[in-house]
Amino acid sequence: MKSSLILSDDGSKLIINVLLNIDKSFIPQAEYAFRTYFKILRLQPRFFYEFCQEEIHIYYGLKRETESKIQIYCDQSTFNFFKEKKQYEEKNVIMSLFGGEYIPFLFSQQGDIFTHNKNRVKIRKDIVASAFYFLSCWQEFTSKKPITVEQRYDYHESLQYLLNFTDIPVVDRYCQIFRVALSLVFDTRNISTNWKTDKKLALSLSHDVDYWGYGSVCYNKPTMKTEKKKDKSTELNNNSTKRIKCFLRKLKSPFYSAEKEFDSMLNHEKKLSVDSTLFLLAKTSYDDTRRNYLNDESVKKYFLNKVKQKNIAFHGSESSAFDFDILKKELDEIKQVNPNVKGFRTHYLYFEYQKLFSNLEKAGIQYDASIGFRKNYGFRAGTSYPFYPFDIVNNRPFNVLEIPFTIMDTTLNSPALLNLPYFLAKNKITEFFEKMAKSGGHISILWHNNTFDFIDFRLWGQLYWHLIKWAKRNDVWICSLHEMYEIWKES
Ligand SMILES: [Zn+2]
Repeated sequence: MKSSLILSDDGSKLIINVLLNIDKSFIPQAEYAFRTYFKILRLQPRFFYEFCQEEIHIYYGLKRETESKIQIYCDQSTFNFFKEKKQYEEKNVIMSLFGGEYIPFLFSQQGDIFTHNKNRVKIRKDIVASAFYFLSCWQEFTSKKPITVEQRYDYHESLQYLLNFTDIPVVDRYCQIFRVALSLVFDTRNISTNWKTDKKLALSLSHDVDYWGYGSVCYNKPTMKTEKKKDKSTELNNNSTKRIKCFLRKLKSPFYSAEKEFDSMLNHEKKLSVDSTLFLLAKTSYDDTRRNYLNDESVKKYFLNKVKQKNIAFHGSESSAFDFDILKKELDEIKQVNPNVKGFRTHYLYFEYQKLFSNLEKAGIQYDASIGFRKNYGFRAGTSYPFYPFDIVNNRPFNVLEIPFTIMDTTLNSPALLNLPYFLAKNKITEFFEKMAKSGGHISILWHNNTFDFIDFRLWGQLYWHLIKWAKRNDVWICSLHEMYEIWKES
């Protein structure tokens, strides 16, 4: 017969006793990985550091036989690895089959994932140290190339790219492995990974407002740094496309209004009964004046009157994630349209994880939505769920929630990034949604407001509406980032 777990004092969660028999230096990291799993599974951990009278449910530590029903072994070399701030080598990653797909395991041996005898189960992969590696973006922390306001982390260096698992939320899979182990030895009928709404998958929506009035006739200015990099042949092609676009712009300009375009996007969402979070640029000294919209009183008024305040978040400039003074100055600007602003995302995704979260924490920002790759859709920190990033210098979780983004429109359509033809992108992303619906979790999509402009982006705005309609048909919980933050904080 399976054992029962006891409920916490307030009756809301099942309690799990975990014994950590590990090097002292690794205790904060191991607790952090366990707490991330327990938050997803709505369990309450109690940690022990030596053998005692209490019944221990999970043993994590150096190899030894114990009475615990679940055992996960680790090795002294793993603790040394983190002390020495090493980078995990691709050749040491073990790929093992779980639920029909190959999942990467670090700090582990070849062989089965589980061994199960009588009423004990061993998880034969170190899913604790592996989860820590991904959640802390350790590979970015230990990268040899400096990450600056001029240079992002190189996606091509990541294990996700090298071993081709960017679209698999590996930490979610480790959590599923952990759940399987629990269900083999405990009565787990009360454990649920479902969202509060009883739906298996969540879809959160956001827009970065990089331009206001993007459709003006002065369109010819380059819209992205990447446009400078194209070769001669695409430049010729681009010039003729640009001429056509400019001609269409001129035809449209007498009827054009930035407010009307924005209204149309918001009204479409309203019709579908969904809400999104808008990240507004707070820097007002860009060379491209279309970005300096918060200088304009009428635009400010528009956001104050037409958008729910809680849905306005802070889109920090390229330097804001590196420089606290710049962050603070821009935050003051954004507070004019939302005095209680909680969310942040950095423009062009320029950030260095440790600096980003220590600055955000200091500024009192509650959640961030910058963790995602620009060059591919998927999971930069290994998980689809919101999580608390880890402060490596001070050995503790940051007090800022990360709501990782999964797919950005630009990643799919930009010539410098995936550059997918529209219908191929639509099929690929729909397939990705179908896969995520089976395993459960969270997808966050980021669509720029100018992507809805037909002249510049043709059908790409439609993909956003297609994905929302797909989610509605498939019983997905659709929310803004603000709602996601509120729910996660309460759970
Ligand atoms: Zn931006």
